[in-house]
Amino acid sequence: MNVLVINCGSSSLKYQLINSETEAVLAKGLCERIGIEGSRLVYQPAGGEKEITESPMPTHKEAIQMVLDALVNEKSGVIASLSEVGAVGHRVVHGGEKFASSAVITEEMLAAVEECNDLAPLHNPANLIGIRACQELMPNVPMVGVFDTAFHQTMPEKAYMYGLPYEYYKKYKIRRYGFHGTSHSFVSKELASFLGLDINNSKIIVCHLGNGASVSAVVNGKSVDTSMGLTPLEGLVMGTRSGDIDPAILEFLAHKENMDIDELMSMLNKKSGVYGLSDYISSDFRDLEDAAEKGDENAIRARAVFNYRVAKYIGGYVAAMNGVDAIAFTAGLGENDTLVRRDIMAYLGYLGIELDEENNKLRGKDVLISTPDSKVKVAVIPTNEELAICRETVALI
Ligand code: AMP
Repeated sequence: MNVLVINCGSSSLKYQLINSETEAVLAKGLCERIGIEGSRLVYQPAGGEKEITESPMPTHKEAIQMVLDALVNEKSGVIASLSEVGAVGHRVVHGGEKFASSAVITEEMLAAVEECNDLAPLHNPANLIGIRACQELMPNVPMVGVFDTAFHQTMPEKAYMYGLPYEYYKKYKIRRYGFHGTSHSFVSKELASFLGLDINNSKIIVCHLGNGASVSAVVNGKSVDTSMGLTPLEGLVMGTRSGDIDPAILEFLAHKENMDIDELMSMLNKKSGVYGLSDYISSDFRDLEDAAEKGDENAIRARAVFNYRVAKYIGGYVAAMNGVDAIAFTAGLGENDTLVRRDIMAYLGYLGIELDEENNKLRGKDVLISTPDSKVKVAVIPTNEELAICRETVALI
């Protein structure tokens, strides 16, 4: 069966058409600037050239229509008709406490997703718009929602509660939810299978290090803790997000800089992280590494703070799980940045971990980067959230 995987943002939409039997990607791409002037479709059939089509996309409906037209296009399409799309899998960011697993999309299910909108006001409404648009254009195709939060619903209460008055949990469900769940789930399973570990008898730490970054602790295949919280702002220092800070800093800055809550939140989400720490050199680690190599102190500081925070979370999760069998690095940085991996692993000698310098240079596949006699194994495991969504979709329908 062919599964169309859709990841809808407020003004963008990423898609892949995947053959679920062979798990081959037939075509992929994205729509950019939906609802803004200059919208365009990027379409790439497997083994073919990227095509860019500029055309107005006032809403997500026009964007999805363009994706479907491209998929069946006589020249570069990859299917003869839309009847060859067997199902659609939608990424949904926040499932709150309502969704501990993926779910077939029904009116009732969409109403429940809508109730989680307050928890992810930027993301969930966009996800819902994408789902509605697909339903209009493909009314008879079964669809599934796959939640970023679902994998972490197995966290115990002691890991998901904040030290706040309990009444706010009762009233508003304020608690840790965690994100990147599809990736943490996929990578922890891949890691166990790559190392020949029994997932049902394993302690794993997954470091999803991209522009957004989070760490999770996974015991016997189930998430028991993760660094992101109510929102994706908590935890690691990220590209532009602060991660953990003393909440009293907000009051201090509000007075000193005369900033209101919107300005403070925008600063924490968009001007902080390695971008802010480097005195605004860049949020991209490639730029930071170029600058650090030339001795730029701002870049050196930003990288050091990022790596130290990851190492602290790993240490915390080793304690929380009373041990660890294996650690995975994944996402843009985890998969590609040899220096970040080297510098984080330098903190992990107490776990009997030693870096395999040669393997650390390899790219693009599952690879063991700890030496063969390291007590705890460390591997690079490329994440594949689209494939994970495809698998979940097929399993449910
Ligand atoms: P993601 O959000 O998963 O796409 O990851 C984005 C981050 O990965 C950015 O900070 C990039 O600098 C980093 N990244 C992507 N490719 C590379 C690469 N080849 N070498 C170093 N860092 C990379």
